[in-house]
Amino acid sequence: MTRTIVEPERHVPVLAEPDVLVVGGGAAGIAAACAAARGGARTMLIEAWGCLGGTLTLVTLGGFCGTHMIVDDERLARVVGGLYLELEDRLAARDAVLPPQRHGRILGVPYESASLKLVADEMVAAYGVRVMLHTSAVATVTDGARLTAVIVENKGGRAAIAPRIVIDASGDADVAASAGADFALGDAGTTQYASTMFRMCGVDTAVARALTRPQIRELLERAVADGYALPRTTTGVHMNPLEGVVHLNVTKLANPKGEPFLLVDPEQLSEAERVGRQQVKLYEEVFRRYVPGFARARVMDIGSRVGVRETRLVRGDSVLTEGHVRNCTKSGDRIACSSWPLELHGQGRDTTWEFLPEGEWYGVPWGCLVVAGLDNLLVAGRNLSAEHTAHASVRVAGPCIAMGEAAGTAAAMSLSAGGAVRSVAVAALQQNLRSEGAILDPGG
Ligand SMILES: Cc1cc2nc3c(=O)[nH]c(=O)nc-3n(C[C@H](O)[C@H](O)[C@H](O)COP(=O)(O)OP(=O)(O)OC[C@H]3O[C@@H](n4cnc5c(N)ncnc54)[C@H](O)[C@@H]3O)c2cc1C
Repeated sequence: MTRTIVEPERHVPVLAEPDVLVVGGGAAGIAAACAAARGGARTMLIEAWGCLGGTLTLVTLGGFCGTHMIVDDERLARVVGGLYLELEDRLAARDAVLPPQRHGRILGVPYESASLKLVADEMVAAYGVRVMLHTSAVATVTDGARLTAVIVENKGGRAAIAPRIVIDASGDADVAASAGADFALGDAGTTQYASTMFRMCGVDTAVARALTRPQIRELLERAVADGYALPRTTTGVHMNPLEGVVHLNVTKLANPKGEPFLLVDPEQLSEAERVGRQQVKLYEEVFRRYVPGFARARVMDIGSRVGVRETRLVRGDSVLTEGHVRNCTKSGDRIACSSWPLELHGQGRDTTWEFLPEGEWYGVPWGCLVVAGLDNLLVAGRNLSAEHTAHASVRVAGPCIAMGEAAGTAAAMSLSAGGAVRSVAVAALQQNLRSEGAILDPGG
């Protein structure tokens, strides 16, 4: 049994009493905070790291996914609008975003992650969000079904924030779990494998760009046959707005038993970081040796933290199910949409992709953001209420931004009822979202 000690009781200062507190400044948290402030709420955003963006900037991505769908072989339609469009416009003004790039049926919008850090700062400031970086939510105080305070820690020590409503956009549902909400950990404890992301510079991008995913797979499998212990051989080469730079999403992190790390366990999280960097070194050697265009390439940066696909999935009033995704269910109470495939990073060197029919999409029901058993807590982003398999489709950046926008908009609307999130009429929420340019009928 773990030895324990009793922490002495202490009084902590109340740092702030905003209307809305957003915990976590990733894709969902940025959108949630901007939307809440836009709706007239005094909004505070706390973030554990020193910049906003979460996975987008700390891990870095090949591009925004889930923002568009392929309608017929050539035509694209947007699936996510609203605040995502503003983000894209702000990046475009810095020459830091490319048009959607296709890898077969996979589609992404490449962006430059350093610029995104600046753009995120500018965007939340434009909406008047109070931001506190290097500040982690570590505990909660509840009164029955009401979350009355979030305890935070930062360089100033320990303090409380007492908002009227909280949006948990921590990705790991830290707030909801602490407040006693029910959650699942992936599929009965098995989550998707994580990856450490990296970028390479000095790439002959004219050559690299022409490589298809099957061609890269063949080259990497050749390296495996030659004795390189690559855990994954399926990947694409993601172009970057910076010249000669590509982004690679190719590592696959496993414990010595070959299982995915459980990344809300601090020991495992720490070990995953180390394993990820070792894999980056291995892939650098293999790409230089086997992949055309990479002979003179070098790793230019490694994500500041391991890329976590899946940890806690909160239980909400509704659950996004595998059936919703496979049947392209357009729930009448949808507050965000997605057409992204079921993208599963499971066992083996492969990644499985199951695409929706062209031009098809599904809706994320409002209840997937409403935490069961709590009155004034919403979730947004990758810690939404979803089944493991459905999560494999909805977790990408586009839908996370759309969910954040919906949560922030709803939070502001709930203030007239003291932050009781179930007071929000979904039809009014949808109307507000549409009036801000959110897309609830893609391709329509
Ligand atoms: C390896 C990998 C590759 C991916 N590739 C793509 C891709 O190419 N395109 C794409 O669209 N999507 C991709 N995704 C998925 C997508 O990027 C993420 O699921 C999405 O960005 C998640 O956004 P989020 O805001 O929900 O969570 P996160 O990005 O995880 O943000 C959560 C934020 O909360 C902060 N936080 C956490 N706990 C606390 C706390 N207790 N207190 C305060 N702050 C806290 C974190 O520091 C972080 O900034 C990828 C994911 C991974 C892991």
